[in-house]
Amino acid sequence: MNRDNIFIASQFITMATDVICGMKVKESTDLKSEFQGKTFYFCSSHCKADFDKNPFKYSR
Ligand SMILES: [Zn+2]
Repeated sequence: MNRDNIFIASQFITMATDVICGMKVKESTDLKSEFQGKTFYFCSSHCKADFDKNPFKYSR
């Protein structure tokens, strides 16, 4: 066992705002959509579905 290989990753978590409900969500979530070159993150599949229905309304 080589102790030099022990590495603790820095745990910076970037937070984004769910544009549907305003909740803070981690950018590591799989619940995200890309629209006009921007990535939007969601707290739930419901919020993502709302966004995907009408991205123009929420991406302004
Ligand atoms: Zn939400």
